[in-house]
Amino acid sequence: MQAAPRTIFGDSHSFCLGTNRFRRERRGPVSEQTDRAVRVPFHEGAMTGVIKQVKVLYIIGWGRSGSTLLDNLLGGIDGFFSGGEIRNLWKEGLIERRVCGCGRPINECPVWSAVLDRVGTSSARNLDPREIIDLERSGARTRHTWSILRRTQSNDVTGQAAAYREVMREVYLATFAVTGATVLVDSSKVPAQAALLSSMSDLEPHYLHLVRDPRASAYSWQRQKARKDLDESEVMPRFGLIKNGLSWLEFNLGAEAIRRSAGVRSFTLLRYEDFMAEPRAAINHIARAIGESPGDLPISNDRTAHLTGNHTVSGNPSRFTTGTVEIRSDDEWRTKQATVDRLVTTSLVFPMLRRYGYQVRVN
Ligand SMILES: [Zn+2]
Repeated sequence: MQAAPRTIFGDSHSFCLGTNRFRRERRGPVSEQTDRAVRVPFHEGAMTGVIKQVKVLYIIGWGRSGSTLLDNLLGGIDGFFSGGEIRNLWKEGLIERRVCGCGRPINECPVWSAVLDRVGTSSARNLDPREIIDLERSGARTRHTWSILRRTQSNDVTGQAAAYREVMREVYLATFAVTGATVLVDSSKVPAQAALLSSMSDLEPHYLHLVRDPRASAYSWQRQKARKDLDESEVMPRFGLIKNGLSWLEFNLGAEAIRRSAGVRSFTLLRYEDFMAEPRAAINHIARAIGESPGDLPISNDRTAHLTGNHTVSGNPSRFTTGTVEIRSDDEWRTKQATVDRLVTTSLVFPMLRRYGYQVRVN
């Protein structure tokens, strides 16, 4: 007898194809950058042998919006590779030695160790993870999104941002070479890094903007949740109401800026609530939006997922769940969130709530 499926919560308005609640935009060809203003330190142009145009599907949005589950499900499509939060390869993977979705430390994982080998050998010198983290902090944080987009228009991305872009480009290309995938899903979610993707040569940038009701993410960030990627007793970081509200605004404004920018092949807006309501339809639509055929999805009966494991760099602990699971929306916040918490969050974000179809009223 088959075991009853467990439940996996997408910790992150209803999803209806063909309505304005699910928006997709297609853009023209990527404008090629022909001249880089800075000779970046980690790349001497030696990443040869990768000639096919490959697609990176970058998920943008604030945390606790269901991106890990979405990334994992997309990875079940033939030709797709679920990379998790690839930006955490350096700090969480190499320095903190947290484990890959496959359960091995990153530098022992067959996929990421091979990727790192390729990136290291293609560079002028060995990559120093701390140096890359410094580049990210000084050139590719969310607040840099607008300047990166502005400078991309004039082909003038320089300094730390350009250097970080080159490192991540090499990582993406190496991942394609190692996995043989044609679509790489990166659920790092940071708008500035998504903005850099739009001017990476040899890569086709596609974007998925994932939004969740910020009252729900506020509640989720306050819950204690086991981390599961290093020490059994360690829990996920928790954020307060102000941090959640302001970051929700900043990340979504950053995503909107990318939607308006040039160099974007496709941009899809998906709400957590719609994803949870019809996960199978959501995955199908995303695949088609980037010009791929979804084929046989790892989802049956609309919401029963069959998860076979992954090589995600980082993300929600749900990435370690395998087997048959029921996908269900995590709505505990609706009945258990303190009214004052909901009021504070609503006050911070109300100008943008209606934009995504969320009610402004607190009760
Ligand atoms: Zn792995």
